[in-house]
Amino acid sequence: MYKWIIVGGGIQGCTTAAYLLHFKKVSKEQLLIIDPFDEPIKKWKSVTNRIGMTYLRSPSVHHLDPDPYSLKKYAKNNDYAGPFLGYYGRPRLDMFNQYCEDLFKEEGVMDCWQQGVVTSIERGIEHWNVSVNEIGRLEAENVVLAVGVNDRPHYPDWTKTLMDQQAGRVQHVFEEPVNDNAKSYAVIGGGITSAHMAKTLALRTKAQVTLIKRHPFRLKDFDSDPGWLGPKYLNRFHKTKCYSKRRQQIREARNRGSITTGIRNDLRALEQEGKLEIITNEILNAKSESNKAAVIFSDGSSITTEQLVLATGAEACVPGGDWLMELASTCNLPCAPCGFPKLNQHLEWGNGLFAAGALAELEVGPAARNIAGARKAAERITSASGG
Ligand SMILES: Cc1cc2nc3c(=O)[nH]c(=O)nc-3n(C[C@H](O)[C@H](O)[C@H](O)COP(=O)(O)OP(=O)(O)OC[C@H]3O[C@@H](n4cnc5c(N)ncnc54)[C@H](O)[C@@H]3O)c2cc1C
Repeated sequence: MYKWIIVGGGIQGCTTAAYLLHFKKVSKEQLLIIDPFDEPIKKWKSVTNRIGMTYLRSPSVHHLDPDPYSLKKYAKNNDYAGPFLGYYGRPRLDMFNQYCEDLFKEEGVMDCWQQGVVTSIERGIEHWNVSVNEIGRLEAENVVLAVGVNDRPHYPDWTKTLMDQQAGRVQHVFEEPVNDNAKSYAVIGGGITSAHMAKTLALRTKAQVTLIKRHPFRLKDFDSDPGWLGPKYLNRFHKTKCYSKRRQQIREARNRGSITTGIRNDLRALEQEGKLEIITNEILNAKSESNKAAVIFSDGSSITTEQLVLATGAEACVPGGDWLMELASTCNLPCAPCGFPKLNQHLEWGNGLFAAGALAELEVGPAARNIAGARKAAERITSASGG
């Protein structure tokens, strides 16, 4: 029997693993991280590389190690050029990824890695039974659910007709490498992911690139106010006993579909150079038209493009899918009206069953899905573990 099994080896799962190992709450032999990929944080790496992101949005102190300054020290010790960008010290992506790899090696995260997909979890007698495809049933005293949302891409309703006609004309950045042969691209989305994608295509290809968003640029430094990482806003959040109200606070706090001033300036410069067209309009429909996709807007105007690239985020649903819903129902685990887990202060859902990331947002708050949220979750879960 394992002492801890972590389901999902993304930023969230690996941060908790690194914490548990670092604080000697578990030995490498007693910890297992289960994830479909062959290495830690693969989903993060593939999506951020695909969109050509070069610097993170979050500041230098947000990373996976308990010491807030460790990334700064790492940058200095390894002599990186331009390791941090601007006033907030946003880290260089390649450095951040290398730093994570080195941290995982140091803490022994890779020694606990098991490739696989969890298909069900059931309560045993004082333990949890975790079923993994092609491996079978494993037992653990404690389980952390860190499944994330990035494997649940959101396809807007208007893509349906075109997908039925010519599925390949529509790609989602969460899913696959973007077709690099197209002569024209329309990138869909108003947030920072679409901004990076449009910028990268405009800079790296000779294709005609159009960014389509339905609202004017929303300029925000971060995707939620840093006050949500401390008592400034979290005190009120935790005093709120009604989970619908907590959900409302999260909704209002998230700067959804926002971008930084820096990337807005980059997009404007590309627009002025004629490398990028920016359209602000509501899409009504899209259909196949003489070997291209026609995108039709609500005001009746339209454009044609060879390749639609969706940067429309994840589906608005409870992460994990059916097996997780089944676990909640068979074990009578408490859920809020929005379907998300109600957790205690250690992010425990049931005895020895913990959640991190999106699944923990009704306890961790609006920053739960981010790197800073991963550290908050790891701190809380680690503090629950007696050692
Ligand atoms: C383009 C982009 C840029 C971002 N930039 C920043 C930033 O600068 N700063 C910041 O703080 N945040 C940022 N974020 C937000 C967030 O930090 C990332 O989305 C991060 O990858 C979330 O980590 P995660 O572990 O929750 O999810 P993921 O990275 O998706 O990892 C979850 C893992 O769980 C696995 N899994 C799912 N189901 C199962 C199962 N049944 N069995 C086993 N494994 C399973 C998945 O396959 C995946 O490998 C960004 C997000 C995106 C999309």
